[in-house]
Amino acid sequence: MPVPFMEVSAMSGGDKLDFEIRPNPQPVAPAERDALMANPGFGRVFTDHMVTVRYAEGKGWYDARVEARAPIPMDPASAVLHYAQEIFEGLKAYHAADGSVTMFRPDANAARFADSARRMAMPPLPQQVFLDSLRHLIEIDRAWLPTTEEGSLYLRPFMFANEVFLGVRPSNEYLYVLIGSPVGSYFPRGVQPVNVWVSPTYTRAAPGGTGEAKCGGNYAASLAAQAEAMEHGCEQVVFLDAVQRRYVDELGGMNVFYVYDDGSLVTPPLGGTILPGITRESVMTLARQAGRTVVERPVAFDEWQADAASGRLREVFACGTAAVITPIGVVRHPDGEFRIADGSPGEVTTGLRQSLVDLQRGRAEDVNDWIHHIR
Ligand SMILES: *Cc1c(COP(=O)(O)O)cnc(C)c1O
Repeated sequence: MPVPFMEVSAMSGGDKLDFEIRPNPQPVAPAERDALMANPGFGRVFTDHMVTVRYAEGKGWYDARVEARAPIPMDPASAVLHYAQEIFEGLKAYHAADGSVTMFRPDANAARFADSARRMAMPPLPQQVFLDSLRHLIEIDRAWLPTTEEGSLYLRPFMFANEVFLGVRPSNEYLYVLIGSPVGSYFPRGVQPVNVWVSPTYTRAAPGGTGEAKCGGNYAASLAAQAEAMEHGCEQVVFLDAVQRRYVDELGGMNVFYVYDDGSLVTPPLGGTILPGITRESVMTLARQAGRTVVERPVAFDEWQADAASGRLREVFACGTAAVITPIGVVRHPDGEFRIADGSPGEVTTGLRQSLVDLQRGRAEDVNDWIHHIR
């Protein structure tokens, strides 16, 4: 029942909050920070600060703070620990060519965060508060922004139910948190084609379920499928639709695109079971602006296999903020495997990746007004 929450948050006037800034009295020493950032990997190193904002039913959003990153005290009966009322986002801040810090489409993340909240019967965080939290963390932790070409500061906003209560109903209290993590390349081997496993066992999202919400529960449910993929020597899992077990939905955390021999792109349509990726939408726009035809239509697994065999299908890639654009080389399934073209990264995939990265780094003209400059 998300509607009453919206009214409360509108009533509280919490569309903009003042953040109390309490700098970390014991930040990591510069030499140690440099050592940590030399090879950060993905999601293992964290900055000195975090942002927190609280919500209480009847009071709205309050107590916005930037403070030292620290453990969050939690009662064992906190609602999220039992019924998983939790959502998150993921986006990156980049060192741009002109020395400024940029973010790519953070307003789209803010809007999706609010959509995810509504699906999980949580109060949507006002978009301005979301955007301000990002700006505050980047400003205070700017020294943690990698300057390497592949590096960025991964920003992880999340929100969970923290009312101390065991009943099954939406929580009356929530905590929004933002943390930052300097990252290198998502895949340790860099931009190389991944092998994917088409799971015969598991699905990710059913119609009417939570597939289009970015909630932790979707990921918890995908881990067994990911383990199955790894048992079959694959880095990622491809999920087929839950009803017919025939049409491709997406990967565990990335959307998928098909490139045909006429230069056109195809991606499965949103419709409840696919996470509306911001990279997905950006790729569609960039490809169209480059003169390509982009079609959203269902892709059946048997069609994928047949088109790969005939050579009509030239490239397949996965995309998301963390891994940007990653070519898919080999597709493995219970009855065998097949290769996409010769299995190496295709030129459309590589070109789109370059266009996206150039935009994010401020090296290409931002005709769509996607880049937010921090300073
Ligand atoms: C976050 C996510 C994506 C990619 O979304 P981006 O906005 O491009 O980062 C794709 N699929 C799932 C399941 C996701 O959670």
